[in-house]
Order: sequence, then structure tokens, then C-alpha cells
Amino acid sequence: MKDRYQVVVIGGGIVGCSVLYHLTLRGMTDAALIEREELTAGSTWHAAGGFHAMNADTRVAALQKYTIGLYPQVEEESGQSAGLHMSGGMELAETPERWHWLRSELQWLRTQDTDAYLLAPEEAVDLVPILDPTGLFGALFDPLEGNLDPNGATQAYAGAARKRGADVIQHNRVLSLSRLANGEWRVETEQGDVHAEHVVNAGGLWARRVGKMVGIDHPLVPMQHHYLVTDTVPQVAAIEGDMPAVTDLEGFTYLQKEGQGVLLGVYEQHPRHWMVEGADWDFGRTLFPEELDRIMPELSIGFRRFPVLEDVGIRRWVNGAFTFTPDGNPLVGPVDGIPNYWAACGCMAGFSQCAGIGLAVANWIVDGDPGYDVFGMDVARFGPYASNDRYLRATTAQFYARRFVMAYPNEELPAGRPLKTTPCYDELESVGARFTVNWGLEVPLYFAPTPGFEENDTLGRSNAEPIVGEEVAAVRTAAGAYEIAQYARYEVAGPGAEAWLDHLLAGRIPDVSAIRLAPMLNEAGRLMGDLTVARLDGDRFWLTGSYYLQDWHLRWFRGHLPPNGVTITNITDGWMGFSVSGPASRAILAELAHDDVGNEAFGFLRIREMDVGSAGAVVGRISLTGELGYEIVVPADRHRTLLHELREAGAPSGLRLVGDRAIDSLRLEKGYGIWSAEFRQDYTPAMAGLHRYVAFDKEDFVGADSVRRARDEGPAQRLVLLEVDATDADASADEGIWVGDRRVGFVTSGAYGHHVGASLALAYLDRDVAEAAGELTVYVVGDPRTARVLPEIPYDPKGLRLRDLDA
Ligand SMILES: Cc1cc2nc3c(=O)[nH]c(=O)nc-3n(C[C@H](O)[C@H](O)[C@H](O)COP(=O)(O)OP(=O)(O)OC[C@H]3O[C@@H](n4cnc5c(N)ncnc54)[C@H](O)[C@@H]3O)c2cc1C
Repeated sequence: MKDRYQVVVIGGGIVGCSVLYHLTLRGMTDAALIEREELTAGSTWHAAGGFHAMNADTRVAALQKYTIGLYPQVEEESGQSAGLHMSGGMELAETPERWHWLRSELQWLRTQDTDAYLLAPEEAVDLVPILDPTGLFGALFDPLEGNLDPNGATQAYAGAARKRGADVIQHNRVLSLSRLANGEWRVETEQGDVHAEHVVNAGGLWARRVGKMVGIDHPLVPMQHHYLVTDTVPQVAAIEGDMPAVTDLEGFTYLQKEGQGVLLGVYEQHPRHWMVEGADWDFGRTLFPEELDRIMPELSIGFRRFPVLEDVGIRRWVNGAFTFTPDGNPLVGPVDGIPNYWAACGCMAGFSQCAGIGLAVANWIVDGDPGYDVFGMDVARFGPYASNDRYLRATTAQFYARRFVMAYPNEELPAGRPLKTTPCYDELESVGARFTVNWGLEVPLYFAPTPGFEENDTLGRSNAEPIVGEEVAAVRTAAGAYEIAQYARYEVAGPGAEAWLDHLLAGRIPDVSAIRLAPMLNEAGRLMGDLTVARLDGDRFWLTGSYYLQDWHLRWFRGHLPPNGVTITNITDGWMGFSVSGPASRAILAELAHDDVGNEAFGFLRIREMDVGSAGAVVGRISLTGELGYEIVVPADRHRTLLHELREAGAPSGLRLVGDRAIDSLRLEKGYGIWSAEFRQDYTPAMAGLHRYVAFDKEDFVGADSVRRARDEGPAQRLVLLEVDATDADASADEGIWVGDRRVGFVTSGAYGHHVGASLALAYLDRDVAEAAGELTVYVVGDPRTARVLPEIPYDPKGLRLRDLDA
């Protein structure tokens, strides 16, 4: 061990070894991995070694595909076999709904360029002769599945990294981490101190403890997990080569060939946490006794699906621990306020995700950017709320138990809720609000007028759609009030504020009392935010963005902040209110405000501080519905009062409370995009139709050169609004769009446009296709539907209502 490295990776499991290898791939060979015991000594050694490319997040799925594709290269470089079996795998459908869902997943996989296909029950049995097909509707076969030898794969990564010049130091625990005055890390280890520019926490079962060494509490917890390995199963032994893995979704089990027998793993409905604070430092290669009583219900289903298991001996039980986060994806990347500390932990699917994590971390350290849209595994996607033990236990147990359970797109899951509520929560609930959750905050989805209304879980349109339709109608014909506690707000102030914002944002900085839409870019000219910037005074600005991006954005803002002259304060939880929009919205505001709020005095994209009812408010003339509208925000302690006063003032003109679903329908009628759907880190302003908000003539701003280049080249794909011939279900996200056999794009969001009476979808289409007026095919919940690009926005294309202008 040297006494100084550029990077020290803490932890020699599959993830740490992959990070080390990827650092060397990027030329960072002055790197060491420090392992407490021996390589694989955490979760890795006893894993089943299965891998798959499927992930609900398409970007994480792409990185899983990368992981699977990289193993042969790592084997070749290291000369060490990873014991790869590219067996493919199948998911079983035991209910009509699940079968429908697998058909939809098939189309999703086709969109990701995977040659998956459906199997009839007897075809599934041909491939896996020990499968009892009773009750099966069919199966989905995915060729990008298989299994490997966990130890071999880890050694292969470590060996390849060593060959490229990195050090691997074993039997040496990292005891503490401290920052030196020169910005380096002092890594105190059992074998002495090491200095490093960067440290990577790949501590697996101990990662929460390692995080606490630098003062961060990562939202991850270890949980127990069982599988069994049988003696020889003659029908399996008779198969030459590989046998596909089987996931029995309704049965909560997975099965793969293991030697001459099989391995059966269980995702039980009553999972068990273990050492929530992280494993003890001296925890060895230890397994827990099997808890058959606890897993028996799921195990018996597995034995029914594979009856031969009744007749063969069990050679080995494994009950080990691995870590989970609230959404099951890992925690990767830098942490705001802790320079040069990197998370690479919380990984529950190490053999599917190790290379994706390694690639992202190495790119991020070398380039300052992960190179891909990795928000789905970014450590900044959770706020501090997620590290609370009670919350973590509830959400991770929910994720574990539902690992194979079908998730309906409109289903709301209960774990850890309600957690954060606004002062209006009880009142909104009392008038029928049904909530979804955004970064722990309860957010109204819609308001059910009938007490006891139950929404059905469905793949198609739900029985709540008529309610959504009424809310849309209220906004289009009278007024709607939408709670906007779920917008993040940051106050930027100081003598350097304008210059800093001018550099940070690609758009023009507004004059006093004005608002502008302001795309924020990274150096590659890709989107980092679809913010609005408002100037309240000369040196005082408000930035508004997405609620769930608070940690992500603050990390970016602070990473670009000059040493002095500018302060940025997160005021999100201190200021909240309602967006009131619709033709009657001005009259409602006028009833409560003393100021002149007429079109002349208070035009579109203006902002003012004024009294609204009993509160000193900040009112912006802006709306996401395409109607005349105002965003009224007040200090949080007057949020509830504002609700009362708005409802009272709005009652005569038919003001109605509206939720997220209505906003989705309304914004699609206007073709407006939102973050995480149309606007993401992997799109450019030119693709996303945000070009007109970029001030190309500004001298210098983050991403200026790249965005100018992208403008000159023109985008390969661009955002369009589609009308889809769908009658009982609408597109949602990631559905492929085809012309014959050519995949020409994908959907980013969809909803029924209640006012215009059409199923709508925003989508990225290849430019030639976007410009031709041809017929397209979109797979909505797996079924082909014709669609066409709308030549113009279906509702108020000239934006007259928004501006309150006559035609
Ligand atoms: C029963 C079971 C079956 C599984 N099956 C699969 C499967 O089929 N497919 C799949 O993809 N995943 C599977 N997993 C999950 C898989 O094991 C994990 O995703 C993976 O091993 C995580 O790897 P890691 O490198 O993040 O963590 P770990 O393997 O836990 O590695 C962390 C390492 O860090 C070291 N360390 C920690 N703190 C320090 C310190 N202070 N100083 C020095 N070293 C330190 C530890 O000693 C350890 O070696 C399974 C897990 C279990 C329990």
C-alpha cells in the first residue's frame, strides 16, 4: 500500500471491484481498493449470481445491459472466468392481468432493442421440463438473463484492474475518514494512513457506517434473503448446456440451474431486516440459520410450481444479507457538501448493476459528469427524510415484498405514508383529496366528490377519470386551484446574484418583477433543469424547480457557486400556495388582492409581492394549464388561510380544487413538457423544444459551446405531440413508436385530454418521421394503436387564453 492515491475505493465486493476497474479504464490507475477482509467478504460471496437487464427505469435498464455485456471483456482481460451462463430467463404469468402486463413488457423490451418473445405454457415446459404449467397463461422470455460465479466475477474485475495498474489491498479495514486542510482525505486504516483525493464508499453491508464516517446517513438497510440449492435433479442434469432461469411472479420465487440441480430463491411477503445501522465490523462470512416457518407460504408455491423439488434433497440453504434502498436502486454519485466523497452502495442487484455503477462513478470522478442520465440511481434522488429508520424499514420492506408483485400504473403504495404533509393536508383530505407522494410529500391527485370512492387498480383508464374530467372542465370554463407546495423554491441573493445566474442558466435573466423560463444545462449542453427564474428586486431572485430535485439541484448550484457575493437559500418548505387558473382566476384574485391585477397592470410572466387575503404573498402570472392563471405563494403558516380565502372568494365563480391528474391532462392539451418526462439529463434544448428559451447571443454560460453546436447540427429526434387512437388506456412513458418494423421514437408521457376529447402523448420522434405526416404505431399497454403527430397544439395554439388576449 502506498501512502497516497488519487482514489481509494472502500470495499472489495462486486461493486467496489467494478468501480476500481472502471477508474483504470478511464486512465485513473493511481487508485487502490481497500478491503476489510477478503474480496467478496460482504454480500457478494453468497449471492445466487443471477443477472437481468430489466429495470423499471429505462436508463438503469440500459446500464444493466451494459453490465451484462461487459463480463466477457473483464474475463478476457483478467484471464479469470466469471462462470458466465447466458441462459436467458422467463417470467411466468398466472393471471390475465399479468399476461397483459407481460405483453406490455415485451413491447418495452423491443423498444430497448432486446429480442424478447412470448412463450405458450407448453413452450415454457419444453425449455424448463420441471415446470408445472398448471394455471399459466404464458411466459415472457428475455435473452438478457443468466447467472455467474460471484467470486469469479469479482476476482475478474479485481484482476483486470490490477493488470491496469491499480492496487488491491486486503485484510485492512478503513477505520475513519477525515478531510485535511488541502482538501485531501486522510483514510485511516488498520495498516496505517493513506491520503487520497477521492474516496468511494462501496462498503455494501457496512456502507451506512462508512457514510457516517463523513457525516452522511445513507438511506440503505441490510435485509435477509433465502435461497436453497438442491441435489441432482435428473431432468435438469439431462439438459445439455444452460436452462433458462424462471421467475414465478405470482409465486414470489426465482429458479436457476445450479450444477446438476437447481437454486430456488424466495422474495417472501414478510421480510426481515438485519442490523439496520450496518453490519458489525467483525461480521465474517456468516450465514443465518434458515427460517422456514417465515418463508414457508412462498416456498410451498415454489414447490407446487416445480413439483420435482418434493423428491430431491436440499444440498444447501443460504440465508444471507444484502442492502436495500426505498426504491430498490443503488445510491451512486457525489454528495452535496462533502467534496470528493462518492457513493457506490445500496446495491441489491450487484451482478446486474456493478458495471453501470462503476462506469457512472468513474466518469463522474474524471469528467465531473456521469455521462448518462443516472438519476434513477443518483444518491441525490432521496432527501434526508429517507434515512429515518422507521421510514427506511417500511419502504424497504414494501419494496422487498413487492419485488415480483405487479405494480399498476395508478396504484398508490402505502409504506412510510403520510410522511410530509402541508398545513392544508387534513382539509384537502376532508374534501375528498386522494394523494400521491412526491419526495415524501403528500400531493393531491384528484378530489373525489363522493365519500368512500375507491379507485380501481388498472392498466387502463381508471374509474377516477370522470372526476379528473370534471376538474379539467372547471379549469377550462371557470377556475381550478392546484396546491403548489410541491414546487421547490430557492432564493438567490447578493451583489453577484445576477452575474452568477446569467452564467448558470442558458436563458436570459429577467428584469425586476418579471419571470422567465430558464433551461439550465451541463457542459455537454444537456438539460439540468427546466427552472423558472423570477426577479423580485435588483439583487434578489427566486428559482423554481421540481420538488423532488431539491438535493440534486442544490448539489449542482453549490458546485457552481462563487466563493462570495451570492447566497442561495432553499425556501421550499417555508413558502407554498396554490396555482389558480382558468377564465375566472383574475376575478378571484381581484377579490382578495388590493392591487390592480388587470392585464395591463399585471401581464403574463410578471411577478409581484402583494397582499392576497390575510397574507403577504408573492404572485406570479404564470400557469401550466394554458389558461389565464396565477401562482400565489405565501409563508407556510398562512397556506391554510390562503386555501380558506381562495375557496370562499372562488365559490361564486365555480372554483374547484384540482390535482395532479387534471394538471397532466391540461398540460398535454397544451403540449407542455415536465421534468423527468420530456425534459431529462439526456436531452438537449433543441430536442426538447426549449431552444427558444436559450439566449444564444449571451457571451458565456454553462454548456454554451455545446448547445450552439447542437443547434447548428440540428437534433436527431424532437419532441412532438401525438394523438393516439386509444379508447380504454392511454400511453404513459417509454412505449415504443414504430413505422412498420422501424422504431422511430418513444413516448415520454401520455394522458387523456378531457377537454379536447383525445388520447394524447408527448414523444420523441426521429426528425424525418416527426416532419412527415405519416401514420405511426404506439404500443399502449402492449396493444398496437395508431397515432399521428398533431400539426398544431390542440388547445389554444396561439396561447391567447394564457395571455388573456382576444383572437
Ligand atoms: C442470498 C442472496 C442472494 C443474492 N443473489 C443475487 C443475485 O442472484 N443477483 C444479484 O445481482 N445480486 C444478488 N444478491 C445481492 C448481491 O449479493 C449484492 O447486490 C452485491 O453483492 C453487493 O455488492 P457490494 O460490492 O455492493 O457489497 P458487498 O459484497 O457487501 O461488499 C462490500 C465490501 O466492503 C467491505 N468493507 C466494508 N466496510 C469496509 C471498511 N471500513 N474497510 C474496508 N472494507 C470494507 C466489506 O468487507 C465487503 O467486502 C444476493 C444477496 C443475497 C444475500
